[in-house]
Amino acid sequence: MKEYQIYPIKVGMLLNAEKSYFSYGRGCGTKMDLPVIMYLVKGEDTCLLVDTGCSDEEWAKAHHNPILRTPEMEPTNALRALGVEPEDVTVIVNTHLHWDHCFNNDKFPNAKIYVQRKEMQFAISPLPPQFVYYEPHQCGMIPPWIRALDRIVAVDGDYQLAEGIDLIFTPGHTPGFQSVLINTAKGAYLIASDTVGLLENWDLLSADGLPHPSGIHIDLSEYYRSLKRMKKICDFVLPGHDPRAFDHSVYPPQK
Ligand SMILES: [Zn+2]
Repeated sequence: MKEYQIYPIKVGMLLNAEKSYFSYGRGCGTKMDLPVIMYLVKGEDTCLLVDTGCSDEEWAKAHHNPILRTPEMEPTNALRALGVEPEDVTVIVNTHLHWDHCFNNDKFPNAKIYVQRKEMQFAISPLPPQFVYYEPHQCGMIPPWIRALDRIVAVDGDYQLAEGIDLIFTPGHTPGFQSVLINTAKGAYLIASDTVGLLENWDLLSADGLPHPSGIHIDLSEYYRSLKRMKKICDFVLPGHDPRAFDHSVYPPQK
């Protein structure tokens, strides 16, 4: 089977973020600075992004909580630092359509963008407590992913994107969430994004051996079903907002 390398790229920092949003009911009142992560997946004939990060600081300050985004963290600049031009990216996978995961889809003009159909349906008309995550018209906004609507490929459930790259339908954090399972020389890595926002959630097992969910979710029963499945199918997991994603510059780690 084909093998790939996965590069975590820091494209922003959520400042003073409430920990319990990322780990259900845990650490209430604890504030953390957490990275916004875009993953580059490279193979012999593959140049793929999983998620495209957040807005600039000004936009975030006006509509969300403050973030840090230096010029080096701007997604196209960060990608160029790894020797990849925005035009080289041929595929984007949005794990979900929260603003900090799809804001820059339009900056990669040659990429087809794979999104679950259910996620798009929900993103058009989210439930009120989750308006802020989607930037919907109910808030007088245009969702950021709409800017590249003409390049979106709607997916229904699991989907094999290429040999060794599978989209895995894992709802719970959002209704149409998908994780990305990638074959590497050292085993199967699952880019779990916000389903495993913090790696400590993955390690904090309940009595039935399942990881701890995010504080932000739409359906906790579905979430647990997804976690159960995720545990079975991968050797390693890569998180949505954990600083430990940058323990290595590439996965699998080089010696
Ligand atoms: Zn999210």
